[in-house]
Amino acid sequence: MYNVKSRKAEEFISDEEIRETLEYAEANKNNLALIDSILQKARPYKDGAGVRCNGLTHREASVLLACEIPEKIQEMYKLAEEIKKAFYGNRIVIFAPLYLSNYCVNGCVYCPYHLKNSKIPRKKLTQDEVRREVIALQDTGHKRLAIEAGEHPTMNPISYILECIQTIYSIKHKNGAIRRVNVNIAATTVENYRKLKEAGIGTYILFQETYHKESYLALHPTGPKHDYAYHTEAMDRAMEGGIDDVGLGVLFGLERYKYEFAGLLMHAEHLEATFGVGPHTISVPRIKRADDIDPSAFDNSISDEIFAKLCALIRIAVPYTGIIISTRENQAVREKVIRLGVSQISGASRTSVGGYAEEERPHDTEQFDVSDQRSLDEVVCWLMEMGYIPSFCTACYREGRTGDRFMQLCKTGQIQNCCHPNALITLKEYLMDYASANTAEVGNALIQKEIEKIPNPKVREIVKNNLIQIQQGQRDFRF
Ligand code: SAM
Repeated sequence: MYNVKSRKAEEFISDEEIRETLEYAEANKNNLALIDSILQKARPYKDGAGVRCNGLTHREASVLLACEIPEKIQEMYKLAEEIKKAFYGNRIVIFAPLYLSNYCVNGCVYCPYHLKNSKIPRKKLTQDEVRREVIALQDTGHKRLAIEAGEHPTMNPISYILECIQTIYSIKHKNGAIRRVNVNIAATTVENYRKLKEAGIGTYILFQETYHKESYLALHPTGPKHDYAYHTEAMDRAMEGGIDDVGLGVLFGLERYKYEFAGLLMHAEHLEATFGVGPHTISVPRIKRADDIDPSAFDNSISDEIFAKLCALIRIAVPYTGIIISTRENQAVREKVIRLGVSQISGASRTSVGGYAEEERPHDTEQFDVSDQRSLDEVVCWLMEMGYIPSFCTACYREGRTGDRFMQLCKTGQIQNCCHPNALITLKEYLMDYASANTAEVGNALIQKEIEKIPNPKVREIVKNNLIQIQQGQRDFRF
């Protein structure tokens, strides 16, 4: 029985409800009156405090996903762009993944770290190696990391993850600092989530992989990850442990995308209904080639067109949730979906354990093949040339603006007086410390143009002052 507030996985992600949703969507995919009313409901509107958006339910959004009428799809794209502009402006947050260990006891059939893969070298970073990786990352300009590890109770226990987090935050190389560590590790206990919260993590990220229980069980045949309920209820435990910024995700290609899309939105609705705050981010990875993994073995792969439609509809359905895209996608795809709603991207990623400290990108322990292989300087310049502001901002969680307090900031339209200035300040730091001459020139011109868009004159003056102080060598200003 579907119950959005239930704490049981099979009730808040009810298979029956998803099936009914898909039938309803299919039956209404040419129902123009309904499609128009759904699009109308999703449009941004002004109220006293600022711009607002209603978002969509999983049923409404599924109708839009089912709709194949070209003009309506164009309307969806236009609306997604509009919503993106209203809440995220032209900022794109930049991060990098950091792989700590590929030891894993699970049997995930799509992941090269699975237990039975005896070919892949197993590696776990020592604290000295973590230091080398972080210095290498800081030296390119990164301020925000997502740490990644396989699941292994003795090789990667929570104490190891916590030690790594402490090491990462402690390193200050030249003007570098990692100011936000997001964590992507296997589902764990409330007690461990509490420890992660105390260690000062940003977002806890866990991909559901697939919401289809039967497929989930087959795709995770062995190991603790086989437990569908434990995995699906992880975000509830994270919230109980005090982590109020959680990141959802589906690994597209494993199951039918329409099923996954409905499940993903039901998960978001569940968190909102139960804890009063929806997911902080949603990630949209697609299966990639890796060591002993051939993506063509999975028959639910989606085209770039469908991928773009999914990104646009996530933007429309959950307007206050960030969308993350990784270097699994190439430059052209990234360009398209950034416009349609993506708000965070990784740059210059290495998905091998210990990869950043190496001169050349190593392949031996890679979790997946990286499609976008450009340097961070190239990614930053590319974004700016398209008119985006690459942001290295980490202010919100450092100022305690997590969970519903962050959502409040979005909903009251204060982003332009807060996130926008923070993006400019952190970009200026990047330009001073790490950018090539050409990137610095493009960036400084962009900053000059963008300062004038800060609505509050007092904030504008402070930013101008901060920029001068950064020029003189000071760092780490924020609103
Ligand atoms: N081990 C953790 C867990 O159980 O959730 C998470 C870390 S794992 C390193 C990060 C994510 O990479 C996985 O959740 C999965 O979605 C994704 N992944 C695994 N194999 C992949 C592949 N071949 N192509 C693309 N993404 C993959």
